[in-house]
Amino acid sequence: MTKYKLEYIWLDGYTPTPNLRGKTQIKAFDSFPTLEQLPLWGFDGSSTKQAEGSSSDCVLKPVRHFPDPARTNGVLVLCEVMMPDGKTPHPSNKRATILDDEGAWFGFEQEYFFYKNGRPLGFPETGFPAPQGPYYTGVGYSNVGSVARQIVEEHLDLCLAAGINHEGINAEVAKGQWEFQIFGKGSKRAADEMWMARYLMQRLCEKYEIDIEYHCKPLGDTDWNGSGMHANFSTSYMREVGGKEYFEKLMAAFGDAREDHIAVYGPDNHMRLTGKHETASIHTFSWGVADRGASIRVPHSFVNNGYKGYLEDRRPNSMGDPYQIASQILKTISTVPTEVSAAA
Ligand code: ADP
Ligand code: MN
Ligand code: MN
Ligand code: MN
Repeated sequence: MTKYKLEYIWLDGYTPTPNLRGKTQIKAFDSFPTLEQLPLWGFDGSSTKQAEGSSSDCVLKPVRHFPDPARTNGVLVLCEVMMPDGKTPHPSNKRATILDDEGAWFGFEQEYFFYKNGRPLGFPETGFPAPQGPYYTGVGYSNVGSVARQIVEEHLDLCLAAGINHEGINAEVAKGQWEFQIFGKGSKRAADEMWMARYLMQRLCEKYEIDIEYHCKPLGDTDWNGSGMHANFSTSYMREVGGKEYFEKLMAAFGDAREDHIAVYGPDNHMRLTGKHETASIHTFSWGVADRGASIRVPHSFVNNGYKGYLEDRRPNSMGDPYQIASQILKTISTVPTEVSAAA
């Protein structure tokens, strides 16, 4: 028997967006445990905005697990929060009720700022660094500093070792701002891995005395970029059948559902979706081929392949909940009939 360190990780009850929480229990297993071997566990919901003090127990139900590369015999146990009966999802548990479809693929581009001493990493104590320009995909100490690259590389290795589908890294437009991409088949799978990648990044940064700032416009109404979480998506129908007629109906449906999408695309998005800095206005819906100022960007490859492939919704922001973002995209897609006209 080996003693494993099980880190139970869940989303708390804070609004408009939850925080990650975690605690460890030690359990002995013959070998790396299966998901079914991981027991339910409890926590004090009154400390996480998930229960009243008088009846504070909430239940943690393991739903995905990964090896924890940062710990000897470590397991990262992603959990859903359940009511005390262990069966009813807690109201804060969005994952339990989202739409899912293994044929729907999602690629999230998580942008974020490293923050130290209350300002972006690399910003001087007062005033601002040189204006935006050289930082995006930049190289060299004056562009990216001394520690950021070390962190993003370590994070990449942790994600890959845990089996999380990390797909890439780039330095972003603002100083101290970076991006990583997570791809997954199915909304739960993709969103689970995004939450785990966020967890690993935040935990990793503790030893560097650096925080992750997920707010979509941390520097307010300035010439400094905000942070998004572009959601690239495709269904099997979009990849295999597609067509211009279906695409146009799909875009009409996205236009009609604009408010439902914005409602789950992250808080304070009006600060970011201004129409400036490669963003669309929050008040309108638009799509465009290779247009980074559109709500939905249509890659050239999509048009060239006969309106088949994936689309990029550029509106979700860095603080958005990927469970709800993916589910809303699937909900809107589900309103568009997939039968092609029989007359054709
Ligand atoms: P950009 O910065 O140019 O918008 P990125 O390379 O950062 O693009 O991100 C593109 C994302 O699109 C990746 O996460 C990738 O996995 C995702 N993607 C690629 N093909 C598909 C597809 N068929 N369905 C869904 N997502 C996809
Ligand atoms: Mn990107
Ligand atoms: Mn980006
Ligand atoms: Mn993008």
